[in-house]
Amino acid sequence: MPKKKKSTADQPAKTSLQSSPHLLRGFKDILPKEQKYWNHLERVVEKIAFQYGYKRIETPILEETSLFVRSVGKETDIVSKEMFSFVDKGGENVCLRPEITASVVRAYIEHGMHTYPQPVRVYYSGPVFRREKPQSGRLRGFHQFGFEVLGNDRPVVDAQLILIARNICLEAGLRLQDFVIQVNSIGDLASREEYLHELSSYFKSKKKYLSPEERKRITKNPMRLLDSVMRDRKDIFDDAPQILDWLNDESKNHFMEVLEILDALEISYVLNPYLVRGLDYYTRTVFEIYPAGKEEFSQSAIGAGGRYDGLIELLGGDPTPAGGFAFGYERFIALLKDREVKIRERKPPQVYLAQIGKQAKIQALKLFEKLRKEGFAVYENFSKDSLKSQLEQADKLEVRYTIIIGQKEVLDGTVLVRDMESGVQEIVNYEKVTDEIRRKLAVK
Ligand code: AMP
Repeated sequence: MPKKKKSTADQPAKTSLQSSPHLLRGFKDILPKEQKYWNHLERVVEKIAFQYGYKRIETPILEETSLFVRSVGKETDIVSKEMFSFVDKGGENVCLRPEITASVVRAYIEHGMHTYPQPVRVYYSGPVFRREKPQSGRLRGFHQFGFEVLGNDRPVVDAQLILIARNICLEAGLRLQDFVIQVNSIGDLASREEYLHELSSYFKSKKKYLSPEERKRITKNPMRLLDSVMRDRKDIFDDAPQILDWLNDESKNHFMEVLEILDALEISYVLNPYLVRGLDYYTRTVFEIYPAGKEEFSQSAIGAGGRYDGLIELLGGDPTPAGGFAFGYERFIALLKDREVKIRERKPPQVYLAQIGKQAKIQALKLFEKLRKEGFAVYENFSKDSLKSQLEQADKLEVRYTIIIGQKEVLDGTVLVRDMESGVQEIVNYEKVTDEIRRKLAVK
């Protein structure tokens, strides 16, 4: 084993303070080569939002901790274990948002959006933070986009949300066979009370199959327990009571209508009576979208949503029915890659601009500006002097044309336009170069 270097007066040993900083566990850098997927998905979200009349909303990343405690729920995993919360220097209890719906609702109340024409349709996109145990598909810092519709209680709204979520998947390039939409209704708070009682009794009778951690949930959050055990131990718990049998007439009729609309629109879904969602604020319709074949793994869901009719009132607003959904960018992109979805990048016309000599460099800098203003994407390496290495770079970038400016071209008021495929070079008047390149690229 190599000996550790002893510190000397002029060469201190490396301490952890001096070692290079590392990425935090569960966080990811999104490198340039990944950006095409992100841009693609963001464009899809923007397009679909526009088509369905959703306007963008942005809320701060840092919020009062109590916002999420009250909305997501004290006994949920997110709030009880996963929040990045801290007391700031002013003594305020704040946290990095673990989700965005609660923030949207806070904004709806705070800005009096109930006075806007209802329903209010908004969408968001941004980072969220949950201090989960990092594992495949489970990050601590990830990104979500979501759609929310506030101020309408009709089943058609639920169905349309599911339709929009499906269309985002399709527009992004997934095929119908690549993903599965699971739906369920968890009823309203009134119909749930009795069910929760029944469910707790059921799990008490199955205590021996539950871990100590799971047992704690029997009384605290039995619905969440259902979600986890039904995914991986169906054989033991397959006689668990189903919420659908406990729905009151109103919730039942509401759900039936949602399903009827989905059927009429030929949107395929799987009814999963044990789908409950991990956040307390949901009521009635809930749904999740899974990569096909991965429905058993809750950490593989790419998107999820549902109604949250009680949330606005819970956070201090007037009683206002609402619903929405959120997708995780990272998991969505992983699925796009897995299914080898081809991403078409929208590239502006591209050229490489090469120069030889001091005056030519100045001329090239000027031409760069001209090309940029006319919408070209211009590659260059003004720090290089050799034409050969500039052409090599242009080759690697796979541009079709390179504009070359040397001493002679500066004096003549011309440039050389090189066809990178054939190697043929043409003299073009400096003033006409943008038109000429555009023409060449158009007929390419
Ligand atoms: P949720 O807010 O828990 O309903 O999650 C909505 C979506 O966010 C999920 O379907 C995932 O795509 C994504 N998501 C949730 N938690 C994580 C995580 N820890 N890491 C990566 N993506 C996540």
